[in-house]
Amino acid sequence: TVTVQPRRDEQSRAVFEQSKQYIPGGVNSPVRAFKSVGLTPMVMERGEGSRVFDIDGNSFIDYVGSWGPLILGHAHPEVIEAIQRTAAKGTSFGAPTELELLMAKTVCERVPSVDIVRMVNSGTEATMSAIRLARGVTKRSKIVKFEGSYHGHADSLLIKAGSGVATLGLPDSPGVPESIAANTITVPYNDMESVNLAFEKFGEEIACIIVEPIAGNMGVVPPQPGFLEGLREITTKYGSLLIFDEVMTGFRVHYQCAQGRFGISPDLTCFGKVIGGGLPVGAYGGRRDLMEQVAPVGPIYQAGTLSGNPLAMAAGYTTLSLLTPDVYDQLETKSARLQAGLERNAKELGLPIVINRVGSMVCPFFTDQPVINYDTAKQSDLNMFNRYFGALLDRGISVAPSQFEGMFVSAVHTDEDIDYTIEAQYDALKAIVR
Ligand code: PMP
Repeated sequence: TVTVQPRRDEQSRAVFEQSKQYIPGGVNSPVRAFKSVGLTPMVMERGEGSRVFDIDGNSFIDYVGSWGPLILGHAHPEVIEAIQRTAAKGTSFGAPTELELLMAKTVCERVPSVDIVRMVNSGTEATMSAIRLARGVTKRSKIVKFEGSYHGHADSLLIKAGSGVATLGLPDSPGVPESIAANTITVPYNDMESVNLAFEKFGEEIACIIVEPIAGNMGVVPPQPGFLEGLREITTKYGSLLIFDEVMTGFRVHYQCAQGRFGISPDLTCFGKVIGGGLPVGAYGGRRDLMEQVAPVGPIYQAGTLSGNPLAMAAGYTTLSLLTPDVYDQLETKSARLQAGLERNAKELGLPIVINRVGSMVCPFFTDQPVINYDTAKQSDLNMFNRYFGALLDRGISVAPSQFEGMFVSAVHTDEDIDYTIEAQYDALKAIVR
């Protein structure tokens, strides 16, 4: 049975109000402020396994997973132990360590298209650096990205971005020069016709296409059959590079990432989130001939004081080591159970809800139309989502405070967690449509 208890938030409110005096909006990343859902964010105290605990004494079954990284759940004992053991030997050297080699080898062995890989500190750095590399090697300036995709906050990529930006209703950001924006061509996701048009018009000037192989920043939107193949074909034809932004999907949807799941080989791949095991890590890698254009082997500059940081490598390497192919099978089964339950709820209540899912990325949209791109994702009833979000919190379930982000199922969510979530969702939906 589902317990309904309006979330207590006095302590969180007090801390958050103070934080606003010292941190813009009280947060270090915009979506955390719960602005679009009109609530006070939980100020977190700790996490354990599938649960998070806030400073008001509430606990939640968590599907945010720090926005994707925590595929092994919160405070996984082996990950924590690795961080502690490593920290005791010093936190940073600015010199090579063996942990960096272990990490790089693991990534290269697992991801067939990656011969060689460079570590950075965030997904943003990974995509920014990959774009610079693509422009550097092709000696072209234009890039193609997709509407509703998010690739971090670098200038060239903050063009009609989804996720936080879409939630706040800012399609572009002030501060991005028009001259930079003019080099980014934005086309609808899953729309090969528009991609072809862009290449007919600008093909010889296009350095690369950057794509989320499963879109995860407009909710969850799978690539339609033939879409990724089409991108592979057209980039090859025009001598442009294909960059997979696997910051969200990398090591989340398959042992070999989305590219292994779909059998497509990009030229470059960006990583983040899971690869860092909850510490700040990003990476970009791919074809050796391309990656060896990066300094110090080649002339294309990219660097980082804390890149390959020992604590981050320890957390990331331990996480990847625990992610055996079996774990992905279990994630698939558990996530399918969640999807089936959510679909059953919608049907029983007669509500127009579409559930998109790839592996452990699950996303309900409040619409009766298929969601295949940003335009169709935006058809979701956002008022409904906002009420749904609050109703879930009151029932002990935490999801991202945005329609344009999926639920992340972790390896430590139990069947009991999933079944409770399905029941709680039923109850939440019933309460908000009354
Ligand atoms: N690319 C994708 C696909 C992402 O989902 C994100 C973050 N949500 C980024 C890039 C940026 O990563 P970071 O927030 O670590 O800079």
